[in-house]
Amino acid sequence: MDAVRDVIVIGSGPAGLTAALYAARANLAPLVIEGLEAGGQLMLTTMVENWPGYRDGIMGPDLMAELREQATRFGAEITTGNVTAIDLQQRPFTLATADAEFKTRALIIATGASARLLGLPSERTLMGHGVSTCATCDGYFFREKPIAVVGGGDSALEEAIFLTKFATEVTVIHRRDQLRASKIMQDKAFANPKISFVWNSDLVAVKDVEKGEVSSIVIRNRHTQEQTELNVDGVFIAIGHTPNTKLFAGQVDMNENGYIRTLDGTRTNVPGVFAAGDVQDHVYRQAITAAGTGCMAAIDTERYLESLPEHAGEAAATAS
Ligand code: NAP
Repeated sequence: MDAVRDVIVIGSGPAGLTAALYAARANLAPLVIEGLEAGGQLMLTTMVENWPGYRDGIMGPDLMAELREQATRFGAEITTGNVTAIDLQQRPFTLATADAEFKTRALIIATGASARLLGLPSERTLMGHGVSTCATCDGYFFREKPIAVVGGGDSALEEAIFLTKFATEVTVIHRRDQLRASKIMQDKAFANPKISFVWNSDLVAVKDVEKGEVSSIVIRNRHTQEQTELNVDGVFIAIGHTPNTKLFAGQVDMNENGYIRTLDGTRTNVPGVFAAGDVQDHVYRQAITAAGTGCMAAIDTERYLESLPEHAGEAAATAS
């Protein structure tokens, strides 16, 4: 096992890497533990046009590669491995992956949230090529084109309403005949002339995998089993997100949907444990807001470490 570290960051999306960048520049020599979905949700998108500073846009994976280089340039260390066990009761905190164990005085949780997917092979293949889980990110690519949204919750209707700014028409496909979304959102969606609904139906395939773009979708009615094909240029899967917080269950306070509760910046209820990005944000969910909270978490960590008694001892030793 390595010596006790000042800070470990779990997660390598915009929140985790920005936290690492700031922590590295504060001389905290952060270790980033990145899991199987290294780079986070931006690795599933193509062009990102709303990250400030890139007026012509940047590909999601390229942006993450840049951020990674920037963090390591200042001394952040990155290791790959799924954290399988964690102990936040004892200090220093202990984390274990399959191959290693780590001890740290402070922890930044930036494990993100994963958009729920239907699990269709075509959905996965065409993700970022007409299939999307983020209307704010990708809606602009579907100007004057027909698109579909899957889901019946607030997210689905919010996305559908937002997408009518660009699309010629938006078809919402829902598996039941009643929406889960709030009444106000339903009223807005029903009143929007560009939005129509296909009820009691599942999306069963996205075409055209061979061409590498979306040309149509196949929908199956749950009652009649009848399949129909709808020509669309894009399909947005909006069936909810799952925060990646299983590992922290019972150790850090979470809300009823499993998002980590933060108070006063990025602090969790456990002193020395901070949370940044989508793992604690079910409202904004943007790369730039994730990066912003990553920066905040690093600053909060630095202040926390400075407040520790052992730090006071080090400072006194340096001064004498
Ligand atoms: P949600 O409320 O859990 O809704 C998910 C929707 O997707 C449901 O309609 C569900 O169908 C459907 N769905 C789930 N799994 C599916 C599957 N495998 N196949 C087909 N459909 C599936 O999730 P959300 O809409 O992301 O909202 C999450 C939370 O954030 C909610 O509390 C919501 O109110 C809140 N939110 C609020 C706003 C706002 O106020 N502006 C905006 C977005 C989200 P069923 O209905 O049949 O279960």
